[in-house]
Amino acid sequence: MPLHVEVRCVAGLNDLLPNKRRGRPIAAEVAAGTTVKDLAESLGVPHTEIAVIVVNGESVDFAYQLRNGDRVSVYPVSEALAVSPLVRLDPPPLREPRFVLDVHLGRLARILRLLGFDCVWRNDITDEELAAISVAEQRTLLTRDRGLLKRAEVAHGYLVRESDRRRQTIEVLRRFDLFRAISPFGRCLECNGVLEPVAREDVDQRLPARTRRDFDDFRRCPRCDRIYWKGSHYDRLAALVEDVRRAGTAA
Ligand SMILES: [Zn+2]
Repeated sequence: MPLHVEVRCVAGLNDLLPNKRRGRPIAAEVAAGTTVKDLAESLGVPHTEIAVIVVNGESVDFAYQLRNGDRVSVYPVSEALAVSPLVRLDPPPLREPRFVLDVHLGRLARILRLLGFDCVWRNDITDEELAAISVAEQRTLLTRDRGLLKRAEVAHGYLVRESDRRRQTIEVLRRFDLFRAISPFGRCLECNGVLEPVAREDVDQRLPARTRRDFDDFRRCPRCDRIYWKGSHYDRLAALVEDVRRAGTAA
């Protein structure tokens, strides 16, 4: 006998639902033994997006098995619900904001690195590796693939809603409250290495003549050996940083 339940997704979780289901209770039919976690994920809400689940007025955990007539409310991580009787289902935030990004988010990874955030990204990384790195290195998995966030082992994850990289950047900084942690130009955009200052004499041979003449502040990536200076790309990148910072103060 199927069970009939009603589900309400709160606030930002509605983004994850098809248009016609947003902002209203959803009538769902589930098999006996279905957990509230299975139900939420079947509607398109990965467990990493959920902070609190209330069934018939009581806070429950993911393993709660649904009963006929249950009224379920699902609250997102972003809702400030620091009320003690509620069972928080999301893990405590990571002490240091660190990320691992799926293969489709390379442009976002570069901007986050530019802003100083530690981001693992490779264009050949598999879903298994993404999940494993997230767990082993305590990194928040950023992805546009909600299937990835349904993996049970992934505790820290976030489904990126926006598709444009500027909007994605602002979305992620807002979600993790990182605008004040921006510390640009300290990290290699290509490989995530932390840049070190290097004397001009030490890199002289590798610089074009004009660069040697016009610049005297150089940094080197200890991982991939790239050299950075405030050359032609710098103004564009600095403008990008300012633009993101402004978006943070406007919020
Ligand atoms: Zn590098």
